[in-house]
Amino acid sequence: MHFSPLKHCRACGTAVVYRLPDDGDTKERAVCPACHTVHYQNPLNVVGTVPVWGDDGAHVLLCKRNIEPRHGKWTLPAGFMEMGETTAEGAARETDEEAGAQYEIQGLFSVMNVVRVGQVHLYYRARLLSTTFNPGHETQEARLFTEAEIPWDELAFRTVRETLKRYFDDRRKGAFGIHVLDIA
Ligand code: ZN
Repeated sequence: MHFSPLKHCRACGTAVVYRLPDDGDTKERAVCPACHTVHYQNPLNVVGTVPVWGDDGAHVLLCKRNIEPRHGKWTLPAGFMEMGETTAEGAARETDEEAGAQYEIQGLFSVMNVVRVGQVHLYYRARLLSTTFNPGHETQEARLFTEAEIPWDELAFRTVRETLKRYFDDRRKGAFGIHVLDIA
């Protein structure tokens, strides 16, 4: 899945052309030949959490997706950041919506550039305060997994796999870092 270039003007619906705007910009933009609107497309932030249970953090909460894409696959709670919220607030909101979990947000854990789709994914660690989950409509099931139980072949996204792998590696070392990665 590549990010989709804009085809029609957001102001008037005319088919756009890709060219350098007249203002000295050095990148081609979607320019409307009718109303001359210049459209700038920029990467989107996806924010989420690694919710863990127990003093030893041995259990991680995963959600089984009830929506496309990757319906039926397992994921960490995450989604697109909304206007008016911080990255941590967005990660918390997604954890509420997708898992209905009670938790406390901890440190930033992973930052992943997914250049191919024009996204940046950020995950925070979160400490679960209970094991009662009340997932919303986007989730079929929310449950805890140990490292050995993680359905590695049934994970929805590569960023989820990379984040989980690093979480369990750091847990073994007894120290959590911030992981910055480029997902090719
Ligand atoms: Zn237009």
